[in-house]
Amino acid sequence: MSETVGTTGLVFEEPLLWERGRPGRVGFSQPRRDVDPAPIPEELVGDLPDLPEVGEVDLVRHFTRLSQWNFGVDSGTYPLGSCTMKYNPKVNDRVAAGFSALHPLLPEPLCQGPLRLMYELERLLAEITGMDAVSLQPASGAQGELTGLLLVRAWLRSRGEDRSKILVPDTAHGTNPASAALCGFRPVAVASGDRGVLTAEAVAAIMDEDTAGLMVTNPNTLGLFEEALPEIARIVHARGGQVYCDGANLNALLGVVRMGELGVDVMHVNLHKTFSSPHGGGGPGAGPVCVRSHLEPFLPVPRVERSPDGAFRWSSDRPRSVGRLHAFHGNFAVLVRAYAYIRSLGPRDLKRVSQLAVLNANYVKERLKDVLHLPYDRPCMHECVFTDERQRRHKVTTLDLAKRLMDYGFHPPTVYFPLVVQGALMVEPTETESKDDLDRFIAAVRAIAAEAETRPETVRGAPTRPKRRRLDETRAARQPRLTG
Ligand SMILES: *Cc1c(COP(=O)(O)O)cnc(C)c1O
Repeated sequence: MSETVGTTGLVFEEPLLWERGRPGRVGFSQPRRDVDPAPIPEELVGDLPDLPEVGEVDLVRHFTRLSQWNFGVDSGTYPLGSCTMKYNPKVNDRVAAGFSALHPLLPEPLCQGPLRLMYELERLLAEITGMDAVSLQPASGAQGELTGLLLVRAWLRSRGEDRSKILVPDTAHGTNPASAALCGFRPVAVASGDRGVLTAEAVAAIMDEDTAGLMVTNPNTLGLFEEALPEIARIVHARGGQVYCDGANLNALLGVVRMGELGVDVMHVNLHKTFSSPHGGGGPGAGPVCVRSHLEPFLPVPRVERSPDGAFRWSSDRPRSVGRLHAFHGNFAVLVRAYAYIRSLGPRDLKRVSQLAVLNANYVKERLKDVLHLPYDRPCMHECVFTDERQRRHKVTTLDLAKRLMDYGFHPPTVYFPLVVQGALMVEPTETESKDDLDRFIAAVRAIAAEAETRPETVRGAPTRPKRRRLDETRAARQPRLTG
């Protein structure tokens, strides 16, 4: 066991509780016994589990220290582009916890409240996206994509068609081509134009009668609004295809643009990003799918319905449905948080969320573009993408800049994505960062840019403050050491 004591006196290596434990230490105290002991017979006890013997204080400090090893939205600015790491109001967790005793198999008459919540959340998401019907089942953005493409395929088959390809822009998140392939389509890349967005010409040149449609992210992963989308949708529709929108970046558009009005037929929304669920580390999340009415018959079952007498119930009587995508009713606690978030903000403040998210990203972009190369110098949406072009001449790369930001107390931005931008550094500040915190972030990036010129080895040697420096990620994956 190696222990290093840092200058703050904190132990930077945390031993296992078994290593901390000492025979006879206990984590609780009981009142003095006033009856005779009645030992449990040996044969009933069997082998006792190997539990560490520690005091309560040992246990609390152990877990408190471990909890501080992680960098989270609750500990500081987390500008991880495309992930919308905004601060999530704790009241939404509290509301979700109120439903934690609910059993998913409760009969309908005993869970009218939760059913109503799901019904109303579907209506709210339909209103926000400009679509007609919603399924809350998918557990993530990626699963929402798969669900949406299954709907497109079912719709095509209902018209006696089976198309093999789907168009995916070169700026797309990796889940887009992966979901398309999983659904049996062959993804075909569409190059975005000089301005970083799709052009009608590029789509028209490759959209044919064997192509099921287009998957488009709006705003796209360069943080740019796909302004030709209405025209592109007309081209795709004229050739019998469907338009899928990856709505992971909805945080830029709440109350401002409704995708249904731009010609989108089906889209998913990442509730964990836009609508306030703590995420990262794999979930749980929720990726509801929103569709125009012609795709509604194919939505997953069961659907929540409202009877004429006002009662809510499940209905699986949908012969054209693609079936079930998730056990029970999706990740319900994430749905509750989204509902609480939307209802507590209301239409005016939801719109303000997006306006501030866009304002913050543009502020960061303008304040940093003289020190970091900006490949698309035009107004952005909720995130902005820089590159390491200027730092490369000092042999400092995007990875070095990101690592050095950790020394300044920030979570690094997204790096090397989107793939179309060499050395990309993608910053999404979100609406929840104050101007003070944005200024601190900007000052840190400016300081690092200066270091890259005057003492580049410092940047290349970063990070110095975290417990681990640069990991050999390949070796860690190939030869993991999982024990002591
Ligand atoms: C996050 C993200 C996804 C995938 O969503 P998950 O919920 O992580 O599966 C897809 N597309 C874009 C643009 C994203 O940012």
